[in-house]
Amino acid sequence: MTELTKLTLAEARDKLRAGDVTSVELTESFLKAIDDADALNAYVHKTPEIALERAKAADARIAEGDAPDMCGLPIGIKDLFCTKGVASQAASGILEGFKPEYESTVSQKLQDAGAVMLGKLNMDEFAMGSSNETSVYGNAVNPWRREDNDAALTPGGSSGGSAAAVAADLCLAATGTDTGGSIRQPAAFTGITGIKPTYGRCSRWGIVAFASSLDQAGPMTKDVRDAAIMLEAMCGHDAKDSTSSELAVPNFEAMLTGDIRGKKIGIPKEYRLDGVPAEIDKLWQDGIDMLKAAGAEIVDISLPHTKYALPAYYVIAPAEASSNLARYDGVRYGHRATLAAGDGITEMYEKTRAEGFGHEVQRRVMVGTYVLSAGFYDAYYNRARRVRTLIKQDFENVFAQGIDAILTPATPSAAFGLGEMSEADPIQMYLNDVFTVTVNLAGLPGVSVPTGLDSQGLPLGLQLIGRPWEEGDLLNTAYALEQAAGFVAKPGKWW
Ligand code: GLN
Repeated sequence: MTELTKLTLAEARDKLRAGDVTSVELTESFLKAIDDADALNAYVHKTPEIALERAKAADARIAEGDAPDMCGLPIGIKDLFCTKGVASQAASGILEGFKPEYESTVSQKLQDAGAVMLGKLNMDEFAMGSSNETSVYGNAVNPWRREDNDAALTPGGSSGGSAAAVAADLCLAATGTDTGGSIRQPAAFTGITGIKPTYGRCSRWGIVAFASSLDQAGPMTKDVRDAAIMLEAMCGHDAKDSTSSELAVPNFEAMLTGDIRGKKIGIPKEYRLDGVPAEIDKLWQDGIDMLKAAGAEIVDISLPHTKYALPAYYVIAPAEASSNLARYDGVRYGHRATLAAGDGITEMYEKTRAEGFGHEVQRRVMVGTYVLSAGFYDAYYNRARRVRTLIKQDFENVFAQGIDAILTPATPSAAFGLGEMSEADPIQMYLNDVFTVTVNLAGLPGVSVPTGLDSQGLPLGLQLIGRPWEEGDLLNTAYALEQAAGFVAKPGKWW
């Protein structure tokens, strides 16, 4: 029975359709695997009753015939998505006890398609972080370990629980969200696939807001085919999110031919950074060689404003976060501090926010408030917005030259040790996002594909960046890269 958890989403779908397995059987296997994996701290709220109920309904629907692709498939949902009647805390103390009255559009779409929610997945608090260490539940743990020592490693962040759960076979796939790299970086750290679609592809309604102009949901899966299947189910216009696109959602899976002959792949010279390990450069070169061998044309390109992306992101994202997080005031829901005699409303806000938010979130709220304040607005926020426009134009220029996709490393390193990066030096942590934030600032689709192992046996990923709204084409290039790389390694089970 345990073997069922090792299936891909597509394999499980095909088995369900053929009647070789039931959704209840699949779900029971995953529930058992999850209970055996508490050491990974991937799930922060388990929902076995809901899962079994939905699995039974899915089996009935499959028996009737013509069920959607996702029907009966057990998945995990990042804690950032509001799920009706089920704790949804964005891994924050300030949302203690919060059970939404409504379901996010994306998780509702998955539910409508018959997917089975196994539970809510760990993450960095309000999706701020790259290591899952800012979670109020404590960090999730990467199922991978270095060959020569068994120190616990980060699964990355912020979608660290999603990544750990998929890599450790604790769900067939999971939802993630990506504001600056939170799908792609943890995917790379755990040897799985993750795609952030074009801004506006997925509705943000019901997803706890971090930086609204950058946030996007996306799937985290065992391979590219699974990403195509799940992404299609998550996308589509939603009247409740005015930034969601009305464009039709294609059948992404049908676009996976693996034929990339004649495609132009850009290699941006500004992504060759000092201090990045030789192994990452080698991986990148291997990826270039693989795409070339598959018939793509490799073109050197320039994205001249790349070096300003990280500073611009760390102005814009905190600015938007400081505004979005103003709603957590202890009045309507979540945590409220115990007050002393004589405390008024101001003390209530102050004490509640001081107790309820972790340090990184407080830091972002303070930075964001500062860059938006009257005296500094032009110097910081407006300047960052102008830089953002230049970064977007860099990409538009190369796409206008006929570039179909851009290949870069996904991360500047393999997974690092938990506790290795000091909280006192946040810049060190922010550097994790150096290859991924440009994509969010420009609103483009980006996918991380596992393509190799480092000398310690840890997975490494490459990123492909696509033209806006062309996720199907991007996934097909990712599919060709996946086929060429032939990455099949799995973490050894120690938990
Ligand atoms: N690591 C980045 C940050 O801390 C990105 C997070 C995300 O994409 N949600 O802001």
